[in-house]
Amino acid sequence: MPSTPVRAAYDELVARGLKLDLTRGKPAPDQLDLAAPLLARDMSHDYRAADGTDTRNYGGDNGAGLPELRAIFGELLHIPVEQLLALGNASLQVMHDTIVHALLHGLPGVLAPWHGQEVAFLCPSPGYDRHFAVTESFGIRMIPVPFDADGRLPLDLIAEHLKDPAVKGMWCVPMFANPGGEVYDEETVRALVSLPAAADDFRLFWDNAYAVHVLTDEFPPVIDVLGLAAEAGNPDRVFVFASTSKMTLAGGGVAFFGSSPANVTWFRKHTSVQTIGPDKVNQLRHVRHFGDADGVRALMQRHRALIAPKFAATERILAERLRPSGAEPVAHWTTPAGGYFIALTGPAGTATRAVELAKAAGIAVTPAGAAFPYGEDPDDAVIRIAPTFPSLDDVEAAVDGLCTCLLFATEERAAVSASSPS
Ligand code: PLP
Repeated sequence: MPSTPVRAAYDELVARGLKLDLTRGKPAPDQLDLAAPLLARDMSHDYRAADGTDTRNYGGDNGAGLPELRAIFGELLHIPVEQLLALGNASLQVMHDTIVHALLHGLPGVLAPWHGQEVAFLCPSPGYDRHFAVTESFGIRMIPVPFDADGRLPLDLIAEHLKDPAVKGMWCVPMFANPGGEVYDEETVRALVSLPAAADDFRLFWDNAYAVHVLTDEFPPVIDVLGLAAEAGNPDRVFVFASTSKMTLAGGGVAFFGSSPANVTWFRKHTSVQTIGPDKVNQLRHVRHFGDADGVRALMQRHRALIAPKFAATERILAERLRPSGAEPVAHWTTPAGGYFIALTGPAGTATRAVELAKAAGIAVTPAGAAFPYGEDPDDAVIRIAPTFPSLDDVEAAVDGLCTCLLFATEERAAVSASSPS
């Protein structure tokens, strides 16, 4: 291919020998510093929960987690305390184990184990790669469900899929989704909890990982999905998951499980075989650290102050480089009001090449296709940008470099199309 200004810009980028990483949605070190008081807290004499439970020992909470922590998150997640459990450190593990229990034991009301049956999950896409890794690891068939151009779920298509009795689950990230930042509106939530499903044991895996992870000063209301499901006559349809991973310590926080009374009893029956109870000392440290639900919101505003400039810089550079004034835009991207990601959509057939070019230039980006079931983006167009972890300067350099790679991949593709016989 002859040299062009875009090619020259790419060669210059490679010559800079960068070493930057836009791959994972991790909190940056200055965000983790916000949890310094949590780590510094001396619990050696402050180990009694509100009801007098000695958190250093087994028991006291009956495996449900500290009531005062459940009360804080019950308010934030809009879940009655008695229907919310505070568990170990990782919500992904809770999701994984919930599926294992369904596979081995079946769900309340049905009790035919999923194992041995054909099981399929609806997967709004692009979505969270680790969700898809869980279902893929069990051989559960994944059915991609594309968001529309306005970030809404195609409810007619979902209704059609639900006529198939093999469809027993659906992955949902209802607020500030990974990676597109979509927020489900009330109409969507009402439809999801009330649509007829051929499988009696169909469940929404409602991963509200980013409920309070805002990028503005507004906390959108958290929809009462369990209440709406009960109202729709499907009280057991929803499993809610969440965690403090991106509030305090990633991987060192507390995970939550919320659901109907019947599902909570079912879940506790199976987890009581797995564990005597969660780490209550860590839960109490979190209670002391947060204070109350407003304390969590105040903390999330401090996170926002650290990460919102990185999102703003990413969006500014994408606009400057990929939507120059007077020219056709090369790509489009989401502008989330919360969460940890931006989904960048380039011309069809460019994402894999752009990510490859970025890698060669020292910029690590999540593999193209990762946000789709089986790693297959049908258009090979979506690139997930995770701007939180690098410093602001590094985010700027990495996003600028990524734009150069996408422009180069687009130019290469246009050249191939122009030279191939029609
Ligand atoms: N759910 C979503 C949508 C996520 O994006 C992530 C992390 O990126 C997780 C869950 C992981 O949560 P945890 O650390 O509680 O396992």
